[in-house]
Amino acid sequence: MITQINHIGIAVTSLENHIPFYRDVLNLELTGIDEVPDQKVRVAMFKIGEVQIELLEPTADDSPIAKFIEKKGEGIHHVAYQSDDIDEDIQQFIAKNIQMIDTKPRSGAHGSQIAFLHPKSSGRVLTEICQIKS
Ligand code: ZN
Repeated sequence: MITQINHIGIAVTSLENHIPFYRDVLNLELTGIDEVPDQKVRVAMFKIGEVQIELLEPTADDSPIAKFIEKKGEGIHHVAYQSDDIDEDIQQFIAKNIQMIDTKPRSGAHGSQIAFLHPKSSGRVLTEICQIKS
């Protein structure tokens, strides 16, 4: 079941250039910087209530984030919904003919499990579901 928005992912060319806006202007709490080799990104997380802002910086030219920035420029990349059972939610999406990028969960930041829905099936908004390690 989807329980809340977990985070909003924003593609940036450099974490260092963008961290000051979120940390020093919006005064959000920087909760950590993490590398996700699987997706070739470095991630900075900010906490705002129950929701996080996830800045994504590519670590390689063939990173999906590098390709996104090349095509569309920096900006909002995806919306992530939190699930309390990601396997079950994926099966339900498939049963509703939703096209999935990931039909099985994979590793995200901080030990989470994540899966992406194809933008074709979600009004062109790249949509992630994630289950937080409990
Ligand atoms: Zn994400």
